[in-house]
Amino acid sequence: MFNVQAIRADFPILTQTVKGKNLVYFDNAATSQKPKQVIEAIANYYETINANIHRGVHYLSQISTDRYEAARETIRKHVNAQHAFEIIFTSGTTHGINLVASGFEPLLNENDEILIGALEHHSNIVPWQFLAERTGAKLRVIPMLENGTLDLSSLSEILTEKTKVVAVNHISNALGTINPIREIIAAAHAVGAAVLIDGAQAAPHLQPDVQALDCDFYTVSGHKICAPTGSGFLYGKESWLNKMRPYQGGGEMIKEVTFEKTTYADLPHKFEAGTPNIEGGIGLGVALDYLNNIGFDKIAAQEQSLLEYATAKISAIDGARIYGPDTSHKTSVVSFNIEGVHPYDLGALLDKMGIAVRTGHHCAQPIMNFFDIPGTVRASMMFYNTFEEIDALVNGIEKAKQMLL
Ligand SMILES: *Cc1c(COP(=O)(O)O)cnc(C)c1O
Repeated sequence: MFNVQAIRADFPILTQTVKGKNLVYFDNAATSQKPKQVIEAIANYYETINANIHRGVHYLSQISTDRYEAARETIRKHVNAQHAFEIIFTSGTTHGINLVASGFEPLLNENDEILIGALEHHSNIVPWQFLAERTGAKLRVIPMLENGTLDLSSLSEILTEKTKVVAVNHISNALGTINPIREIIAAAHAVGAAVLIDGAQAAPHLQPDVQALDCDFYTVSGHKICAPTGSGFLYGKESWLNKMRPYQGGGEMIKEVTFEKTTYADLPHKFEAGTPNIEGGIGLGVALDYLNNIGFDKIAAQEQSLLEYATAKISAIDGARIYGPDTSHKTSVVSFNIEGVHPYDLGALLDKMGIAVRTGHHCAQPIMNFFDIPGTVRASMMFYNTFEEIDALVNGIEKAKQMLL
């Protein structure tokens, strides 16, 4: 049995009232809330451990380094990477994608192509545009269909020997669509292209196995998986990480520095210049332990029930349109509009009722352009949400409609 009340007791913020109403937090795709286990780990770090890593011979520095490296090992195990040095700590998905796009710059030229999906977050579009500008390579896009899924029918035409990198998200943040990444990875590898999977929306809901997927890169944001903001990781295959240029220069990432020439440190340090977010990395390990302790099978089952309930309730509202595929091909995101109502107005009225949803383009403007809409209202749920909260949302939408229409 899934004891949601026991789980909610781990999340201090969920007991708050907002504008006199019980907080209903449905903006989990933007960021997740943190359990007290993670909050306490951060406080404990500053109260008892705080010291810079990998440098000091002194006691605290060694403890700090041990904890940080233990977190790297927790991540390695979680995603089933072969080596811990294939896990690079980052500040999040945006950092991870920029690191890879920048690292590929010396490997591309004007005859090459970069392929992304139509459902990408801006952070999986803009870094590739930078790379295209700098190398002369061409950026191409896998188109999407009316049902909010990728259209793979033309993949064999747009994915060719010219394609050097393919970057797609595992799950769309705007619609919740689960993309057929195994198929895309296999097709890309058949033409020799490297594949980056933006796992920012997948990591909260499932446990990725990077070896089974055979992806070359996988990026995750800590703040979306109950870990601190500014933490995250990039998985990269050893062979690619060795070929890539380092992203930032500085301390930690070097072997030897003279004014004439610098040699780089071994993996993962080659990509970890400067003092990192130490407590964030440690907190990320604690968050993964927390989630694994509940179990991703239970998390996924609970979130699927919430998704099905919310989808049934919201689609029953007169004038509602939900964007994206049916509930068998998506995660717990309901992205919708009410006919005649601007998404922002609905979001603002829901906020007055203590209900937090996201409105707008969700950092995925091309999707909104495809549907020819200014944006959507997005209710994104996590395992700590309840069916009663969905009822509150639905009542809120009905009330807002009476005010606005
Ligand atoms: C949130 C998100 C990002 C960006 O992550 P940051 O944590 O802001 O770096 C990228 N892609 C997807 C699919 C996301 O949901």
